[in-house]
Amino acid sequence: MSIKVINDKCTGCRLCLKVCPINAIEIKDKKAIILSNCTICGACVEVCKFNAIVITKEEKKAKEGYKGVWIFAERKGDTLHDVGIELLSCGRDIANKLGVELVSVLLGDHSENDAHILIYHGADKVFLIKDPRLNTAEIGLATKAFADLAEKEKPEVILMGATSLGRSLAPRLAGRLNTGLTADCTEMDVDTVKKLLLQTRPAFGGNIMATIITPSMRPQMATVRPKVMKKPPIDKTRKGKIITIKPDINDKDQLTRILRTIREEKDVVDLQEADIIVSGGRGIGKKENFALIAELAKTLGGAVGASRATVDAGWIPSYHQVGQTGKTVQPKLYIACGISGAIQHQVGMRSSDMIIAINKDSSAPIFDIATYGIVGDLFEIIPALIKQLKK
Ligand SMILES: Cc1cc2nc3c(=O)[nH]c(=O)nc-3n(C[C@H](O)[C@H](O)[C@H](O)COP(=O)(O)OP(=O)(O)OC[C@H]3O[C@@H](n4cnc5c(N)ncnc54)[C@H](O)[C@@H]3O)c2cc1C
Repeated sequence: MSIKVINDKCTGCRLCLKVCPINAIEIKDKKAIILSNCTICGACVEVCKFNAIVITKEEKKAKEGYKGVWIFAERKGDTLHDVGIELLSCGRDIANKLGVELVSVLLGDHSENDAHILIYHGADKVFLIKDPRLNTAEIGLATKAFADLAEKEKPEVILMGATSLGRSLAPRLAGRLNTGLTADCTEMDVDTVKKLLLQTRPAFGGNIMATIITPSMRPQMATVRPKVMKKPPIDKTRKGKIITIKPDINDKDQLTRILRTIREEKDVVDLQEADIIVSGGRGIGKKENFALIAELAKTLGGAVGASRATVDAGWIPSYHQVGQTGKTVQPKLYIACGISGAIQHQVGMRSSDMIIAINKDSSAPIFDIATYGIVGDLFEIIPALIKQLKK
């Protein structure tokens, strides 16, 4: 692929210079010059009013013939990781808007039953790349097997969970397929006119939500954190195609060997599995007051979450933190106590089924996303709630 400036058309207006995110353009003698660090993102092409910068034909070909939305259905132990099912909800929406098939990709020695589960949740087709060597998270083999299939089938979109495996596989795959990747998205949509995937994620320290596009290359690839999307409903009458594939992998593709898998300590709360979470924020005042949050959580049979402010203050260990730099959770009930609701906190909990916010400031942003809001002092409200619940 290549990009060039048509000197006759270039006026040296510098617009391209301003939009280039990596300073890969210079102006010399009133003409733009593309430098060798250019990644052909296409930003300069779009901004040029004089059509003086063009991406060559091979580049345009890079988009031709790509069709279908693929979701990587990751394995967790002997079953399916929830994130591969959750992604079928936004995948279905994107596939419908683009008028294409929704495809799940399974790696490993899965049974056809796993493929059926994906079809029941919305997949039209499942590629089962079947080989027991793909059961572990060995990245070299997974990359080779997945990339070979993607190169042959040419999907226009590939989504995967921002899990340890997804975060390892997605960039390798993007490298192999010579395309871009947006990591850790929190929202997905599609521009149906330009057939572009709109990949939204927090950027600049979480201060803005940026929508990123892949204008020139295919597939369009993104990872999405577990629990950001809701699982689509199950419909056991759905039918779909299951295509089993024998991958062409061998020892030379294997980059690492998994020697041992050590499970996370059991007494560490698994916030992502909890149905009820009661979270405390700076409004609780001091470390000792987490006892009140813990008591409400215990009364409801839930887990304790926290805002980053409380973690940074050393009031509670970091594995309780909910948010952009903490965990993304999706419980049935999330109770935010003394939490203002900064965007970095919201991105980690706003998909909860029901949100109850307790805050003495009626203008706190948490109330914008709360199902029920209680304006008042948490030190009066929480004890009263516990008393009633215990009754
Ligand atoms: C790059 C980056 C990543 C971040 N990641 C995260 C993240 O993962 N998770 C996260 O949570 N934050 C994160 N933050 C921080 C975030 O921006 C906020 O600073 C943080 O969430 C604020 O925590 P808080 O709501 O507990 O505290 P505050 O914003 O100080 O809010 C305290 C709230 O308590 C209320 N209050 C006070 N006393 C009472 C009372 N007695 N009764 C009832 N209400 C009371 C106040 O009205 C106020 O609304 C991140 C920030 C950055 C820049």
